[in-house]
Amino acid sequence: MKTVIMKYDRDHKDPGVMEQAGRILRDGGLVAFPTETVYGLGGDALNPRASQKIYAAKGRPSDNPLIVHIADMEALKVLAREIPENALKLADRFWPGPLTMILNKSDAVPHETTGGLDTVAIRMPSHPAAYELIRSSGVYIAAPSANTSGRPSPTLASHVEEDLGGRIDMIIDGGRCDIGLESSIIDLSVPVPTILRPGYITRAMFEDVIGHVDVDPTIVSDSLIPGQKPKAPGMRYKHYAPRGDLTIVEGGRQAVAAKINELIALRESQGRRTAVICSEETRNLYRCGIRETIGSREHEESIAANLYDVLRRMDRDGAEYIYSESFAGAGLGTAIMNRLLKAAGHKIIRL
Ligand code: AMP
Ligand code: MG
Repeated sequence: MKTVIMKYDRDHKDPGVMEQAGRILRDGGLVAFPTETVYGLGGDALNPRASQKIYAAKGRPSDNPLIVHIADMEALKVLAREIPENALKLADRFWPGPLTMILNKSDAVPHETTGGLDTVAIRMPSHPAAYELIRSSGVYIAAPSANTSGRPSPTLASHVEEDLGGRIDMIIDGGRCDIGLESSIIDLSVPVPTILRPGYITRAMFEDVIGHVDVDPTIVSDSLIPGQKPKAPGMRYKHYAPRGDLTIVEGGRQAVAAKINELIALRESQGRRTAVICSEETRNLYRCGIRETIGSREHEESIAANLYDVLRRMDRDGAEYIYSESFAGAGLGTAIMNRLLKAAGHKIIRL
């Protein structure tokens, strides 16, 4: 299949792009498009064949449900069996934006889209390309991240092309995604609202609107807790991983740098290609061939926005052993470390 790549420029819009993309979606095809979080791989959410195509293109296990993207509140009534008060409050504050809510699904939503579950994940994205695509297609768009399952999520159209070129109908290239990490997911189908995936919207931000929320314990633990399965099925799978062997080293700046330099020297003496993921503030502390500066510790947003691109660059650089600093922090740090720990298969050295 030939994948058509079309540019989207929010200041100079070409209506032809959205018309063509909308037609593909209505015909049951797949279109990758930018959102404020990461690129999504879209198909008609109410068409079971389109959902099956999404799983096939990504190599995604079919029990890992898709998020349905909408452009107005009317859509909620079509997709959800009931709409709790908390959903309205959160939508009012955070939609359109990087928030996904889990609600009991209506009969309109096929089980192919929800991975067999009776709940459905719904989000109203704020990126204008996503909004225009939903509008021009006239469908609700099921869209997981537009990467091959297991690889880092795409934050640039070139990442999508790398993974899915030749496997999908179209890629809308809207440049770099602002946030760079997937949406926060909150489950509102249970008695106590529960965060299933951390993201740009933090626990404190949720609690400010709806009071106490729980956090799925599997999000914060270093390793899977025996007998406990993450409630977002997708969080169960190894994710975001570069091909090289990634280890996180956590502790004071100097101690971390000393440890990483020691590990690099050891691997290099074995003839291995090494790389380090560091911050602007610490890059001069490392003696290493490949140093990837992920962002500034003063701006967690920069670290989130660059994370997946840096992980993909590790593959392009052919890094066999990768050492990363820890980026734990109160705000976005939870989401960043959730992804980084998964990418590292939870390998972390604490000093
Ligand atoms: P992605 O769009 O690739 O970030 O994947 C969607 C994420 O949402 C996965 O981690 C899914 O497991 C999660 N998700 C989607 N629908 C549901 C649902 N009904 N219940 C719980 N988690 C869900
Ligand atoms: Mg994904």
